[in-house]
Amino acid sequence: MSALASPLAAAQSDAARLAAVDRYDLLDTRPDEAFDRISRLIRLTLEVDIGLVSLMDAHRQWYKSIVGLEAAEAPLDLTFCRHMLADGLPLMVPDARLDSRFCDNPFVLGDPNVRAYAGVPLRTADGFTIGSICAIGSTAKDFTPREQAILLELAGLAMDELELRQTAAQDSLTQAGTRRAFKEEAQRFVARAKRHLGALSCISFDLDHFKTINDTYGHAAGDQVLVSVAHTTAANVRQSDLFGRLGGEEFAILLPHTDEARAMEVAEKLRLLFRGLSFPGSHPPLSIAASFGVAALDPAHDDVDALLQKADEALYDAKRTGRNKCSAWRPAGRPPQHDRRRVLKAGKLIINEQHSVIDGTVRALWADGAEISLSSTLGIPETLILAIPSDQLQRRCTVTGRTEQKLTLAFVAD
Ligand code: GH3
Ligand code: MG
Ligand code: MG
Repeated sequence: MSALASPLAAAQSDAARLAAVDRYDLLDTRPDEAFDRISRLIRLTLEVDIGLVSLMDAHRQWYKSIVGLEAAEAPLDLTFCRHMLADGLPLMVPDARLDSRFCDNPFVLGDPNVRAYAGVPLRTADGFTIGSICAIGSTAKDFTPREQAILLELAGLAMDELELRQTAAQDSLTQAGTRRAFKEEAQRFVARAKRHLGALSCISFDLDHFKTINDTYGHAAGDQVLVSVAHTTAANVRQSDLFGRLGGEEFAILLPHTDEARAMEVAEKLRLLFRGLSFPGSHPPLSIAASFGVAALDPAHDDVDALLQKADEALYDAKRTGRNKCSAWRPAGRPPQHDRRRVLKAGKLIINEQHSVIDGTVRALWADGAEISLSSTLGIPETLILAIPSDQLQRRCTVTGRTEQKLTLAFVAD
């Protein structure tokens, strides 16, 4: 019996694959010329309508680059590319209408009227399929060995580019440290603090309602906000502090020789500075806010991850209790989500008396709730069942928070 024969083993291997996707820190980032060039080359050399470079999340195929079609993502279970997850091999479909796997696919029956499809997986050195590049044509076509070879080379190029980004120490937009560089350097900060029993604090912050800023003012304005926030931060902390961009609109600072009270002062100073930032030319006038979490290292018990986790818990406490504020981590009388863990797992929402199942990606879990991303939360009822196959978890939930693509769920006591 193969190791993946059981559904549980398959779900756990999917969790390892999602961790590999997460390592590249690319989901939901902005378009990028290097990848757009690959998509254009696919179109030009294979003479197809659509060229794309994608990442495969738990519930969606997300396009890092796509030319020839206006789309940001597609539900994974409708995509051709997902078939490559099983064996990690390229997939050629000369005419989707004649292929029993795809003849009734909505992308074949309707827009963009897929006929010819050629896909090559993006595989990591340790063997995980994290995404794909593919060529899509609206007329049937046999892909020649030469065309298939070109696509393989382009997939190699896309992977090289991804690896290169991962080794970068500085984020190219904000000049803050990358998540990876921040975490590596943070190990040294923590080791030093433990050795000398010196104070070390961490401030973690996340811009409030940043999605609305992008939606209202456009992504270029959003980028400008990130640049201003990062420059303001770098200019107002010490040279010896460590500053990194941990994700899209989330940053962290490590402050050596700084206790929690002093770190709270720094966080409060930054909060006010961000409130005072103005962006000339934006209509209506654009103002921003951020929520901050602050935690001090417990040298006897904490490593880097524990310290970041505490700052993260405090940050979510600030979000939960109104945003645009600073919260310090508290061991006693902790908020309900004190054990909130960031995770990346495939999740299923079972709704309508078990008649429909909707795929999602669980992004955070705590004792009595979870946060899950979906392609759309439209029409999702207030009560449902959440299943996480890799954890063999199945819980009845109520929806306590909802945005276009994200639900916060509270587990209902059984
Ligand atoms: P909250 O107050 O709960 O933090 O809400 P939010 O809208 O800030 O959080 P959410 O996680 O829903 O949205 C974050 C958005 O940040 C979504 C994503 O498109 C955007 N984003 C991530 N990276 C970048 C980037 O590099 N540039 C721009 N312009 N937007 C980005
Ligand atoms: Mg935010
Ligand atoms: Mg965020």
